[in-house]
Amino acid sequence: MMNQHLFKIILIGDSGVGKSNILSRFCRDEFTIGSKSTIGVEFATKNLEIDNCVVTAQVWEKYRAITNTFYRGAKAALLIYSIEDRESFDNIQQWLSELEKLSPSNVVLMLVGNKNDLEESRAISFEEAAKFANENGILFLETSAKNATNIDKAFNSILTEILRIHN
Ligand code: GDP
Repeated sequence: MMNQHLFKIILIGDSGVGKSNILSRFCRDEFTIGSKSTIGVEFATKNLEIDNCVVTAQVWEKYRAITNTFYRGAKAALLIYSIEDRESFDNIQQWLSELEKLSPSNVVLMLVGNKNDLEESRAISFEEAAKFANENGILFLETSAKNATNIDKAFNSILTEILRIHN
């Protein structure tokens, strides 16, 4: 019998950065152009095998959930901005502060610069975001939910890190 784990991962960031689509790309391999892709779900799950463990990633997007329910029991958080939206990057600091208030200190954090398929409208360089992540001691990746770039990699890195901490 392999070890089984269920880990809650929350997606945080401004409206429009791609949270719904990161969730649907990871859990269902789907992408939606335009409006909301979620059909009123608060979370979706996906099973993965990592380091000889069966890991269920339970991915939450803040949808209707009252704040406490959303943060409760989270083992990791993806702090998401869009690489073509300066404001969404500047607001990461506030999302980090809210997170620090509402969740335990051992939550694994990853800064995620989504929409990196939109290179021509890039507003935040890779280096600037990497520096911010480094200064705050958090993981960092750029992704595209549209092209599926680094989506699996983001969750794999996060889950591997959670397993490392909890073993
Ligand atoms: P949320 O409000 O953070 O949940 O953002 P959504 O997932 O609803 O995405 C907002 C908009 O950005 C939608 O029009 C999506 O189609 C689009 N979008 C999401 N991810 C990407 C991406 O990686 N690349 C591009 N080009 N568009 C994206």
